[in-house]
Amino acid sequence: MSNIIVNPYNLTLEEQKIIGEKFKTHTDWDTSDNFDEIKKNIRDFLRIEQDNKCCYCKRELGFDIKEVDIEHIIAKSLHWKFTFEPLNLALSCPGCNTKKGDTNILAKSIVRYPKNSKNVTIIHAHYDKYDENINIIDNCIFEPISKKGSHTITVCELFRIKIAEKKAKEVIVNRSPESKLIDLIVNAPADQLSIAFAELMKRIK
Ligand SMILES: [Zn+2]
Repeated sequence: MSNIIVNPYNLTLEEQKIIGEKFKTHTDWDTSDNFDEIKKNIRDFLRIEQDNKCCYCKRELGFDIKEVDIEHIIAKSLHWKFTFEPLNLALSCPGCNTKKGDTNILAKSIVRYPKNSKNVTIIHAHYDKYDENINIIDNCIFEPISKKGSHTITVCELFRIKIAEKKAKEVIVNRSPESKLIDLIVNAPADQLSIAFAELMKRIK
């Protein structure tokens, strides 16, 4: 498990120039396509740094664009100047990013980007070691071992993962062999329909 991001992404001079010229406010992050290439480079870089895990729930990130978000640790809507601050960026799953939303995670207001995590109330992926704050049991139960850990669990609603796992298991358990056979019949090519049907009749007799 990646415990902390060791290296933040280094914006190239060219990237800094694009940001300097085109970036005006935080909504540009989502609405402008000027930054697509920069965002891709940040994603590719952080996937390796984070061992392809969400910085909050540590679950594996998917490779589809909809399965990974560039998370702004300090919400860009609250501090738009930190939108491209490398120390403010980490990859998360869309679930954790959505739950965290625009939550203010700063204990006191700031002008400059924090140099350490003292003023940050959740696990800061660049400053705080995950395993000193949260213990993950069976890949789905999140046990807080610090105040920050506890607050991270609350802000990202990490208990949702245990509920999702439980539901997924129920779905699998509840699917009887007969229901799987019915699926087979529905999808069977015409020439194999009678074989699948005969099998089903045998099972339910
Ligand atoms: Zn997550």
